[in-house]
Formats: sequence, C-alpha cells, structure tokens
Amino acid sequence: MRPEVLYPLFADISTLPGVGPRTRALFEKLAGPHVVDLCWHLPNSVIDRSYAPQVADAQPGRIATLTVRVDEHRPPMRKGQPFKVRCFDETGVLDIVYFHAKPDYLNRILPVGATRVVSGKVEIFQGTPQMSHPDHVVPPEQGPLVAGVEPSYSLTTGLTPRMLAKAIDGALQRAPELPEWIEPTFLARQEWPRWREALVAAHHPQCEADLVPTTGARQRLAYDELLSNQLALALVRRHHSRQTGRPIQGDGHLRAKAAAALPFDLTNSQKQAVTEILSDMAAPSRMLRLLQGDVGSGKTVVALLAMLTAVEAGCQAALMAPTEVLARQHYATIRPLADAAGINVLLLTGRDKGRNRQAILEEISSGRAMLAVGTHALFQDDVAFHDLGLAVIDEQHRFGVHQRMSLQAKGKGVDVLVMTATPIPRTLVLTSYGDMDASRLTEKPAGRKPVDTRTMSMDRLDQVIDGVARAMDQGSKAFWVCPLVEEDDSGELAAAEARYAALKERFGERVGLVHGRMKSADKDAVMAAFKDGEVDLLVATTVIEVGVDVPAATVMVIEHAERFGLAQLHQLRGRIGRGTAKATCLLLYQGPLGEAARARLNTLRETDDGFRIAEEDLRLRGHGELLGTRQSGFPEFRLADLAVHGDLLAAARDEAKLVLDRDPDLQGRRGQALRVLLYLFEQDTAVRYIRAG
Ligand code: ADP
Ligand code: MG
Repeated sequence: MRPEVLYPLFADISTLPGVGPRTRALFEKLAGPHVVDLCWHLPNSVIDRSYAPQVADAQPGRIATLTVRVDEHRPPMRKGQPFKVRCFDETGVLDIVYFHAKPDYLNRILPVGATRVVSGKVEIFQGTPQMSHPDHVVPPEQGPLVAGVEPSYSLTTGLTPRMLAKAIDGALQRAPELPEWIEPTFLARQEWPRWREALVAAHHPQCEADLVPTTGARQRLAYDELLSNQLALALVRRHHSRQTGRPIQGDGHLRAKAAAALPFDLTNSQKQAVTEILSDMAAPSRMLRLLQGDVGSGKTVVALLAMLTAVEAGCQAALMAPTEVLARQHYATIRPLADAAGINVLLLTGRDKGRNRQAILEEISSGRAMLAVGTHALFQDDVAFHDLGLAVIDEQHRFGVHQRMSLQAKGKGVDVLVMTATPIPRTLVLTSYGDMDASRLTEKPAGRKPVDTRTMSMDRLDQVIDGVARAMDQGSKAFWVCPLVEEDDSGELAAAEARYAALKERFGERVGLVHGRMKSADKDAVMAAFKDGEVDLLVATTVIEVGVDVPAATVMVIEHAERFGLAQLHQLRGRIGRGTAKATCLLLYQGPLGEAARARLNTLRETDDGFRIAEEDLRLRGHGELLGTRQSGFPEFRLADLAVHGDLLAAARDEAKLVLDRDPDLQGRRGQALRVLLYLFEQDTAVRYIRAG
C-alpha cells in the first residue's frame, strides 16, 4: 500500500489549479497523470525579467518589465487588426497589443486609469514601443514578484507558460516533507538539500547555471531516482535468490551429442560462457545470469548447451523469445541439435490455438517434451511444466523484470539465464538488470569477416543500385533499410513504399517489402521468401526483427544513415555477414553532416565491436537520446541523466546493497523512509518482494 504521506502527490492532476477538464489531457501528455509528474517536470531554461527600464529606454527585442498607466482601449477598426491598449509612463507611450482579445477581459486586467506592471518582449512598431500579449499583467503590489528570474518549461501545443506555471506551483505546494532516506553522513558530505527543498530549488533557478544537472538540488533528485531503481532491482534479485535453488548437474552425454552435430567449434567466449553458466547451475543457489553478445555471436548455441544440461539432470528447460519470428528462429536452430541428442523439443507461440495448443500443453505438463521454445505464450497461466529447471529468456531488451519472474515461477528454484543482444553499455546493464552476473560473448565465430562498411552520399543512389544489382546477380541477398522518420511512422512507411515501388520497376518480383503495419503472418511470409525463396532484395523499415538470421544476406543499404543512432546502425548491420561470404554495408547519408552524425558514421566504419560501440553511443548521444530506448524496455529516467550521473548510479548501487544487507525487509526507520522512496518512483511491484514484516 502506498504510504499516506504520498497521497497528495499521487492525486490526479485535474485537482490542481489551472488544470481543467479540457486541458487535463494536455497536461497528462506533457508530464503524466499525477501531481508528482508535474513535480518531475523540471525547467529547461530561465527568463530574466529583472530588466525594468522606463518605456523610452526599453531596448527593442528584450524582455522587459515595465510599470505603466492605462490610458485608453482602442478596439480594432477592421477585422484582422489587433486590439490595442495605450499606456504610458513619464518617458513615453507603450501600446499593449492583443489579437483576438475579448474586450471584457482586457477591461478587467487593464482598466483605464490604473497602474499596471507588464512584462514581455518590447518591440517598436511604426515608431511606437509596443508589447504584444505580455507574459504578465499585474497590479503594482505584485510587480516585485514578476520582475525576477522565472523558470521556463518545455510545453505542448495548447498549453501556455502561464497555465503550466500555475499548475506546477500548485503541485509544489502539495509536495510534503518526506522522511529522509539518504544516509545522513553521505547527505552531509554531498551538501545536498532535503527532498522537498531540492524539488523547490530545482523549480526556482536563479540563473542558467542553476539548470545544469550537477547542482546540489538536481543531483539529489537524480540520486533519489537512481537509488529507487537500484533498490527495486536488488529487491527482485534478493527475492529470486532467497527461494532455494537446486543444484543442476549433467553428465555431459547430451551436450556431447549436440556438440558433435555442430558444424563448427565453439569460440573461446562461448566455451567460457558455457563454463560459467554450468557452474552457476551446479551451485545450490538459483542462477540469475545475463548472457550478452552481439547479434550473431552465437548465444543460442550456448543457451542450448545449458538447456541440455538441465535435461541431463532430469528437468525441463524453456527458451522464451520476444517475438514469433525469433521464437521460430531459435526453434529452427535448436531442433536439429536436439534431434541429434535424441531430445524432444516443442514450439509454443500465440498462433497455436485449440486442440493443437492443448496437445502441446499436454506434452509439456507430462514431461514428455523436455525442451520448449516459444514466445510469451509460454508464461500464460494454463502452461504447466512437469519440472522446469532452467528458463532462458531472450530479451532483446523487450521483457521487463516482472515478465522474467513469471516464467521462473513455473518451477521450483528455476535457474534463469537472460540473453540480450548488445549493445548495452555497462551503465544501462546496471539500470536494467542491477548487479546481475554477466557472461559476454566478445568474439565473433571463426571464419566471419568484418563487414566492409562504407559511407556514401545519397547523390550516388544510382551507383548504389547498380552495385546492389551486381551483388544480386552473383547470388547475394540484400537488405534495403528505409529512413527513420521521427515521430511519424506513416512517413516512414510512405518512404519505404516509394522505394519499394522504384526498386520493383527494376528488379520485379525479386523485391519484397516488410514493415511494421503488416500482419505478422504476412511479415513471416515475406521474411521466409527472403530467407529461402525468390525475394533477393528486401526493402524494410526499421522494424525488421533484431536477430533475424539470413545467412545469404551479404549486402545492406541504409538510407539516411545519419538519422539513426549508433547502436541501431550496429544492430542493423549485424544482420549481414553471418555467413562466410564477404559482406558490405552501405551507409547512405544526406549531407551536410552534423558533427555528431559524422562521428557516428566514422565509429561504425572503424569498428564492429558492439561493446565499444555501445559505450561510444552513450557518450555521443547521452542516455535520454539513445534512439530506440523508449520502446526498448530500458528504464527511462526523468531526473537522472546517465551521461552525467554515472557516478551517482554506482553510489546508488552500492548503497542499495548495503541497505539490504543491514535491513533486508526495510523495517527500520530508514527502511521505512526507503519504502516511501520506492513508492515515490512508482516501484510498487518491487515492494511486493519485501517479506511481510
Ligand atoms: P545470436 O543468438 O547471438 O544472434 P546465434 O546463436 O543465432 O547468434 O548464431 C548465429 C549463427 O552463427 C548461427 O547460424 C549459428 O549456428 C552460428 N554459430 C554459432 N556459434 C558459432 C561458432 N562458434 N562458429 C561458427 N558459427 C557459429
Ligand atoms: Mg540467436
């Protein structure tokens, strides 16, 4: 249950002054549904209104706060003209100008004869100083309030700065004093303010310098957010390891059979990862391990060897993939090897319905099927395992901590192996997985040549198409990735369709198109035709599945590569060069290139080490801007910026560990305060893992 002290912060935003039935949706879009969301909406600049000259001295173009007397209201003579309110001081005349104003309203705020303080940008129109739509119009006694430094916030269409300021003001007034959750000596050493004070200070910058993420107030808020994240992950992890595991130890006979059927030797990284995983499994505690490696680095094979070990020990193993296509691909990889080992493996996806599904469930619950591969269909309630010992979860960044928990709940003391395709920078690993043990596949399988990566201007499109044609005539398959259109996937689609139509003119039925709006069965059909059929050139939007394996694909063209993030380009490129033939990636760009875009494309030309690229990406773009992180299931921070607050993340990780060592169920006084912190950052589900006191 959410602590009472937080109730005001989790009230609906519609209870705030200035948030009406019609504007609520706008506020929600901008910040979120609760009062606390407006608290987290921090200013991004300041407006200095301290410049208060007399009218005749006011510099055009500058924000000024002027004290004037209202002389006369001049309604527009013709349609389209503005309403003018003529004012003056002892130095001259100022026209206050309104378009589409209601005379009643103007009479109210600017009554003739009254003195008013107005603040806004001064301009000269036909020789007369004027101010159109002042930001503030107040009586003189409120003048000092206006004539200072004002925070300025990002907005959304339909909201004015004034409306937002009013609501945020209301939100801050609701913010209670909260019990201190930061360790006192640490707090003192950092010289950070208390929570409420930090929040208020962050909303009242006195100058530009107060907006940087390294002010005491902003650091404190960022640390709070990171601490809640690390604490939540640590709780989940503790919950996991608290449940007694079981030692799973095989005799190696199935693994040996599968290994003998492999047409290649394992890389040293793969061997090392298998050793680490098997030693975790053999231990009596539960395994929770991350297996990281670039697309194509051979994670599936590693996972299979772990799964066969579970079978040797007499229990079942399951592999769950985020999409239908990937589940099928894993199944295709695993099936022949499992066959070679004489083990039955089943596929279960959302497409299995009725009788067929019943039969599969029956095989799984009876234990006749020792291995199961599938999508999230595997963790639905009616799926029961005979005796699940190992759950492998191929995340590709898409599952959350809680889905992970639901698969492992299908057995007793289930060992968990989480696979992710890099690139994930270390800091992101920490925020998404916490202090999880990790095995990294850093080597590429033998015989794989690095992809020859070149950048080319869009002006040379004809040459590029000729090149693709030559490659296709020599039996290659090619991907053609169409530009990412920010915030508008219909534009993206249109671009892909146009390119598809143009390429079809030349290549006819050898061209296919795949995009995100297609039904998944249609998508699969096109992918299948590309993989083994008549389609040799596949035009795709960025939706093409991460990890899709088409060994014959040796060419990839990426249009408007300058618009993609580094990590994303790397992921895309990882789809070619998976066979033994030499592969080429052409990054088409539209000049002139900005500095960051140039740096991204250069990095990509220089290296294909996913781990290096990941770190570089984080450095170049900053965490918040990583393309694709929004949909990727990485936690999004509102206050912390990992590019700046990396050291705070490390501190939060250590602190979370220390706190839980001392007070595992958060019972003490500080423990109670930390519970408030968890709720404040909506880590409600993590709180469930605290043992009831
Ligand atoms: P990932 O899951 O990491 O994307 P996969 O396990 O799907 O990679 O492997 C990609 C391809 O490389 C598969 O066709 C697989 O059979 C092959 N492969 C895996 N390990 C090796 C290896 N050590 N040597 C050569 N090929 C390998
Ligand atoms: Mg794979």
